[in-house]
Amino acid sequence: NKINVGIIFGGKSAEHEVSLMSAASIMRAIDKEKYNVIPIGITKRGNWMMYDGPIEKIENGQWENISNKLIKDRPEENIFSVIPIGDKSLGDKIPPVLIDKIDVVFPVLHGPYGEDGTIQGLLEMADIPYVGAGVLASSLCMDKVYAKKIFEFEGLSVVDYFVIFKDELEKNIKDYISAVEKNFNYPVFIKPANLGSSVGITKAHNRDELINGLHEAAKYDRKIMVEKCIECREIECAVLGNDKPKASVVGEIIPSHEFYDYEAKYFDDGKSKMVIPADIPEEISDKIRKIAVKAYKALECSGLSRVDFFLEKGTNKIYINEINTMPGFTKYSMYPLLWQETGLPYDKLIDKLIQLALERYKQKP
Ligand code: ATP
Ligand code: MG
Ligand code: MG
Ligand code: MG
Repeated sequence: NKINVGIIFGGKSAEHEVSLMSAASIMRAIDKEKYNVIPIGITKRGNWMMYDGPIEKIENGQWENISNKLIKDRPEENIFSVIPIGDKSLGDKIPPVLIDKIDVVFPVLHGPYGEDGTIQGLLEMADIPYVGAGVLASSLCMDKVYAKKIFEFEGLSVVDYFVIFKDELEKNIKDYISAVEKNFNYPVFIKPANLGSSVGITKAHNRDELINGLHEAAKYDRKIMVEKCIECREIECAVLGNDKPKASVVGEIIPSHEFYDYEAKYFDDGKSKMVIPADIPEEISDKIRKIAVKAYKALECSGLSRVDFFLEKGTNKIYINEINTMPGFTKYSMYPLLWQETGLPYDKLIDKLIQLALERYKQKP
């Protein structure tokens, strides 16, 4: 008996396109002997659709045009009635076995409305097992400010920052700028508190760029942070597991741009480099791996997370930057490559994640 895996892709966040790439890659690699894939797309506007077309059309965004089964247009307005029980009346195009029941969901969504606890809450309510972190861990990790508070509480070094809310930005921008300038030297980083893929992030080298950066970040979030810039090497560690999480070897990102921005991540013709394993002393990589697991546990992550670090040049001080509970997941993304190097190939990793989801569900009281 095959396990029916609902793969949810797309989503409302600015990381929609990244999700399409991750999901298509998973659909190609997943063990078809063991799993039936049920693709469920969410458009940028937030409409849910059953999809049964070719995988390529997910990657290039054309899937929306051939998905004719808009879940919202169905008599059952809410997805609770459709997703969990698998409505047989959904249409003829989906083989009955596929709509019979969804056993587990792989929410391959990045950023808000996907990686932030919202869909996890929906799946909890619907009583469906799902891959990855639960509600609390997802939302804590998505919010860079709250994640930092917990890292600090655990005694982990984080980069100094200020928080600015959008409405205050209009009123008190002068005060904030003087506070930032009093405490930090330029350059500084400006980030929306809840996002990913570097969307909305800028590096400001002077006051004008700081002002522009604040307005740019405010397009994506009501909460904005300004961070001290660290002269660093960027090291990432993949963590996998529920109660006994394991850390992979660590990898280094060498961005093709001044920092690892959206272009450098996805479009720069592979000019950004991933060095796996990172060429750093074992003593440091061991420390990073330990911190990664500690942080993972502190935020109560489960399933998977990519924990990102800054290794300061000169001092070798290790700062934890953030935890991504649903990191980029194509075959060529850092998270799967780190596990590949550690001895767990991509298809086995997907299998493991689904098994972890089912185990976690079974352990619920
Ligand atoms: P992800 O795609 O990993 O989810 P993100 O959008 O959550 O990324 P960050 O990882 O916080 O954003 O920052 C994106 C990039 O900006 C980093 O990989 C790094 O290149 C640069 N960066 C961010 N903050 C700093 C900092 N304080 N000092 C130096 N570089 C930074
Ligand atoms: Mg992130
Ligand atoms: Mg991310
Ligand atoms: Mg990051």
